[in-house]
Amino acid sequence: MASAQVLRAEVPYGRSRFDFLMEEEGKEFFLEVKSVTLFGNRAALFPDAVTERGRHHILKLAELGDEAIKQGLPRPVVLFLIHSSRVDRFLPDYHTDLEFSRAFLEVRDRVRIIPVSVGWTRTLELTEKVEELPVPWEFLSREVSDSGAYLVLMKVEHEELFDVGRLGPVAFPAGWYIYVGSAMKNLTARINRHLRKRKKFHWHIDYLRNQAAKVSVLPIRSSKRAECSVARALSDLLAPHAAGFGSSDCDCATHLFFSPEKPTNSRAFHDFLERFRMPLLDG
Ligand SMILES: [Zn+2]
Repeated sequence: MASAQVLRAEVPYGRSRFDFLMEEEGKEFFLEVKSVTLFGNRAALFPDAVTERGRHHILKLAELGDEAIKQGLPRPVVLFLIHSSRVDRFLPDYHTDLEFSRAFLEVRDRVRIIPVSVGWTRTLELTEKVEELPVPWEFLSREVSDSGAYLVLMKVEHEELFDVGRLGPVAFPAGWYIYVGSAMKNLTARINRHLRKRKKFHWHIDYLRNQAAKVSVLPIRSSKRAECSVARALSDLLAPHAAGFGSSDCDCATHLFFSPEKPTNSRAFHDFLERFRMPLLDG
């Protein structure tokens, strides 16, 4: 790409529009630039929210890539411009946007994916150092799937006491609760199930979920069952609550944890989440 030049910017193509039309050795190709500002556990991640547009873009580029390969022309490029030098790998955030991540994997032979990190100084100047980062393709092929663990975050506004199935009556002081569960198939459907209120209760979590305000779910996708190690790690940060809650089938004391403060406000919580979401690859 070193000798490539920009011919035009904001180039319409069908119903899409690409950032740049490039030229290298007399041959044209499209270049799309994505800005990366999300980082976790030394990994640079994209996107930071579900991007249907981003998915559409790379699939469209892959169609062009197909044509380019047939004609012996350069493949289109997606340049991920990473605004940090303290990262050592780039990957799609499959926890946040599974469909984009699946497309990212699917197009990799037809689109040149180039993640480049740039550094910023304290005075907001670009540093000299520009580095191409590796993409852990093997790891992604294994881990980008609709399975894994999840955290259900719930807020109880006022102290409550109610029956939780066979556990009987349980007191819930006002505050924040996190439930750890897993679904090794159809994780997205499971998450959506927890986000809806239900009339029939099946799991312990259903009883609490129905009483709670502000329910949200954070997936921790993985190919291996991690629910109990996630629960163990969380017990170092938050208070275990209601013995046996969600842990009828394992050795954990509980899969429910309590915090008087909103747990997602704490640095320690984010460190915990990043550790599970973006495991380091060495070893
Ligand atoms: Zn467990």
